[in-house]
Amino acid sequence: MGENINIEKIFGSKVFTLDKMKERLPKEVFEEVLKVNQEGGELSFESAEKIATAMKEWAVENGATHYTHWFQPLTGITAEKHDSFVTHPKSDGKMLLKFSAKELIKGEPDASSFPSGGLRSTFEARGYTVWDTTSPAFIKEGGCGSILCIPTAFCSYTGEALDKKTPLLRSLEAINEQSLRIVKLFGNTEAKKVSVSVGAEQEYFLIDRKNYLKRDDLIFTGRTLFGAQPPKGQEMDDHYFGVIRERVGAFMADLNEELWKLGVTAKTQHNEVAPAQHELAPIYEEANIATDHNQIVMETMKRVAFQHGLTCLLHEKPFAKVNGSGKHNNWSLVTDNGVNLLDPGDNPNDNFQFLLVLSCIIKAVDTHADLLRQSASDVGNDLRLGAAEAPPAIMSIFLGDQLDDVVRQLVEKGEASRSIDGGMLQTGVSTLIDFEKDGTDRNRTSPFAFTGNKFEFRSVGSSDSIGSPNTILNAIVAEAFCEAADILENADDFETELHNLIKDNMAKHQRIIFNGDGYSEAWVKEAARRGLPNIKTMVDAVETLTTDKAVKLFEKFKIFTKSELESRQEILYESYVKSINIEANTMIDMVSRKFLPAGIKYSKELALTVNALDDAGVDNSVQLGILEKVSKKLSEMNKALENLISKHDKALEITDVKEKAVYIKDNVVEAMDNLRKPTDELELIVDKALWPVPTYGDMLFEV
Ligand code: ADP
Ligand code: MG
Repeated sequence: MGENINIEKIFGSKVFTLDKMKERLPKEVFEEVLKVNQEGGELSFESAEKIATAMKEWAVENGATHYTHWFQPLTGITAEKHDSFVTHPKSDGKMLLKFSAKELIKGEPDASSFPSGGLRSTFEARGYTVWDTTSPAFIKEGGCGSILCIPTAFCSYTGEALDKKTPLLRSLEAINEQSLRIVKLFGNTEAKKVSVSVGAEQEYFLIDRKNYLKRDDLIFTGRTLFGAQPPKGQEMDDHYFGVIRERVGAFMADLNEELWKLGVTAKTQHNEVAPAQHELAPIYEEANIATDHNQIVMETMKRVAFQHGLTCLLHEKPFAKVNGSGKHNNWSLVTDNGVNLLDPGDNPNDNFQFLLVLSCIIKAVDTHADLLRQSASDVGNDLRLGAAEAPPAIMSIFLGDQLDDVVRQLVEKGEASRSIDGGMLQTGVSTLIDFEKDGTDRNRTSPFAFTGNKFEFRSVGSSDSIGSPNTILNAIVAEAFCEAADILENADDFETELHNLIKDNMAKHQRIIFNGDGYSEAWVKEAARRGLPNIKTMVDAVETLTTDKAVKLFEKFKIFTKSELESRQEILYESYVKSINIEANTMIDMVSRKFLPAGIKYSKELALTVNALDDAGVDNSVQLGILEKVSKKLSEMNKALENLISKHDKALEITDVKEKAVYIKDNVVEAMDNLRKPTDELELIVDKALWPVPTYGDMLFEV
């Protein structure tokens, strides 16, 4: 692998693309597929039968032995159960491989162990996976051989969504319908569909697998729960965009090759800010496919890392005190006749469709800042959002100088007569070509930034699915579009009403716009003054899912029913409780059975030396001093350990899941921090040869 890659040849070779369907299907069946893909609707059973056969033949030719319905339950990762194409042998002993429409369309994984938040009682354990015809099937190669993966949605017997894909698909229908109303108002009657384009930049860490296997915290929780700072961190800024080291480069080359085969447009790769941190960005594509592809990217990263003796850490904060990992979700809306609704053009002040769209997005984000914040929350992201590196927990929009100026003109004067342009960039070096600058510089601290012709939602956690963030974005913008279209479709004087609406949206919601430093203390105060929500944790964010405002929004656009929202809420509380539980247990175990014993061993060595030196009549003050320090840390650790155990036991007694989550957030997390501190301090005193796990220095600088 890795040598002489012919991208054109391998790209999509493991995907059952439209092209392959065209080759293998009768013309009328293929046309039906195209129609469903473009306009929605359902395939007939007869066609599905033909597609199943063609898909199986293609898969078998490509070495597949099994198929699976590939789905995204609320655990946040993908799930699969493999079935081989094997049937009863014929009388002559020969094997006829089969795959029917029924098997393609619907699966019934005995799904009682997936989280359902009360939607599916365990005695009624039916859950169905349903073929998503809009995302192509693909062949995954791995330890199990080659498996045909069929992207599916996962729902209960009564049709409630049990996954991340179903609501996303529903939200895509909603935004399509409402966006079409908007473009029609501006005379675009040819557009039949408005799609969401998404490009998800993925950050990750790579460490040596032999170090990973020596750390229970990484194995059980995906992050380090202990670890003193190494002599060097990220302060030199020498990793970001630095030359990619050989071993990492070899990993990236194989990763790209695997992704290209799976039809993922891996495009950009570079070293990130923290040591051992890297990023991969694909080219943007339709949101549903981008979401599936992001899952594939994460899975493939883990698999290829394994093959290279590495471990890929996707946790939001694998290491304390260096940058964590996120996922920038780039989002825009584009019509099937090629208009990007978020493209301001050269003179945004004159581009009324753009201004209306922009004003609706401003309104949507301000109205539902809480939901947007929720959509990017997970346990790991609590360690990232709000710390001084990732976007803050307060949602705000960065527009940049050019648009900010247009909004200001509109709000202050009722109209915008001019747009600032970027001017020419002159380097002062005659041989470098001067070029036209963007109208806007970048702002790295904003959670939701306008970047040219798209919005970049930067709060999403690196391990999370982008399903929820995009579902929420689509839903809240669909609502604002719908409210605008309701007014404008009935306007007597369109131009005046349009002007008023744009101005109104911007004036009422301009508090959400912030172009300054999102990491500063001053912004926290200013945001509070503006009345913007500052939701600090995942547990606090979960509340926002069932406010009247949220239920109204989701029910109106048929994205979630109230009971689906309640079930999700329960699942989120549960997953928080379980995750922190595992972290606390791991800490208790590591301190009790690794770090305390290491300290005790070292103190014994010191004590023996102290006595021996004393007997010999030699100065032993250094040894005695260290012994006292070690002993002091051991007693601090022991106290903190007992405290954590008691808080943790108390949490386990609480039966109500929300109450439990809140208690854990307010008590257990702090007790964990208090145990980490003396342990990390002990690490810096104890003989390294006695320290039972690899250190930050070993993990971050050894690849
Ligand atoms: P930037 O440097 O502004 O972050 P890049 O061109 O590096 O932009 O793109 C970052 C990500 O955004 C990539 O995944 C890219 O494909 C995606 N992207 C670019 N344009 C759009 C768009 N119009 N809609 C959605 N995503 C986009
Ligand atoms: Mg980045």
